[in-house]
Amino acid sequence: MKNIVILGSTGSIGTNALEIIRNKREEFKVLALSGHSNYDLLIEQIEEFSPKYVSIGSEVGYDKITKKFPKLKVFLGREGLKKLGQLLEMDIILISVTGAIGIEATVEAIKLEKRIALANKETMVAGGSYINKLLKKYPKAEIIPVDSEHSAIFQSLLSGKKKDVQNIIITASGGTFRGKSRKDLENIKVSEALKHPNWSMGKKITIDSSTLVNKGLEVIEAHELFGVDYDKIKVIVHPESIVHSLVEFKDGAVIAQLGVTDMKLPIQLAFTYPDRESSLALEHLDLLKIKNLTFEEPDREVFKGLDLAFKAGKIGKSMPTVLNAANEVAVELFMKEEIKFLEIYDIIEEAMKNHTIKDVENLEDILKIDLETRNWVYKNFKK
Ligand code: NDP
Ligand code: MG
Repeated sequence: MKNIVILGSTGSIGTNALEIIRNKREEFKVLALSGHSNYDLLIEQIEEFSPKYVSIGSEVGYDKITKKFPKLKVFLGREGLKKLGQLLEMDIILISVTGAIGIEATVEAIKLEKRIALANKETMVAGGSYINKLLKKYPKAEIIPVDSEHSAIFQSLLSGKKKDVQNIIITASGGTFRGKSRKDLENIKVSEALKHPNWSMGKKITIDSSTLVNKGLEVIEAHELFGVDYDKIKVIVHPESIVHSLVEFKDGAVIAQLGVTDMKLPIQLAFTYPDRESSLALEHLDLLKIKNLTFEEPDREVFKGLDLAFKAGKIGKSMPTVLNAANEVAVELFMKEEIKFLEIYDIIEEAMKNHTIKDVENLEDILKIDLETRNWVYKNFKK
């Protein structure tokens, strides 16, 4: 029986993970869950999965849950997330909150040398170099990527040696606005940016997909997870989202992982690896139904998010933390209709220009730069 902790159980990845567990009750036990604002759903999940620990962001939710479940250990807020990362009884922690808020629990779980199923790419972008340093210090800790592209790369890398990798090729759906010009994007409404052609996901990542910042974050995530130089990381648009990413080896062999557009497979694999298991929750791919797979160049002029991320990644040090924090606030301001769609790029660019690059030695450095960037963006762009 594996004890599973899910950070962000009320979200898109979190509910998919619970669907995996629902189908494998004999193998997985929910040890802890966390939600932020959606306490009604968290209460339903507590009733169904009987966790020992829960963390909740909202104080109203905290009061309701402590009253309703007097025997349950309930934590609150940011500190609560960190506490869930410190549970000795866990075997696996799935980090599926949105934003760099996931970093502290990830760090705690590494220190306990646990398996971390990492969906939360912002953590790897904001703190990748520090996390890698920590993984060297705690060699039994392991991060298994859940992000579909990185799960695909992780799987493809198993067919060769790292020294023989020529390129990592990350596929991108191209997002909602593939083919649009800058002019077309000037007056985009929030509701339009929230329609993703292939994937059903949380709001923040859906906006990130429409700006291609998501792909940019994934480039940095790939660099940090797999230790591959930026000039060996390529991005191609693949509108069908069936080839989840590829690895090209020196001899020209290209190894890819294909599957339906459903996050349940990468989530389950992060739980069962190195085993692969069948599940009623998993749908299989029918290539004859798909028929055609197409590929094209991304439009880097219109969707500036991609190259901004390459730039931040190549600069390294504190810059990826700045890129991520500026983007998180920009997306929040866009969703509140305080800025226009294209201003998301301006905010990231300006925040990067304004920042003086620093070395990142520890978690405190990351949290400080993250907070400073957020405050700077609020001060300069919030209406
Ligand atoms: P959702 O918005 O659907 O869910 C986010 C989860 O995090 C919810 O449980 C939410 O709680 C919680 N949360 C939000 N803000 C906070 C906060 N400040 N403190 C604590 N918890 C918080 O997002 P997704 O599930 O789509 O994405 C989660 C992560 O996984 C992201 O990093 C994303 O980039 C990554 N990812 C997602 C994919 C997908 O298909 N969805 C694919 C690949 C990666 P509540 O709802 O209760 O407020
Ligand atoms: Mg992805």
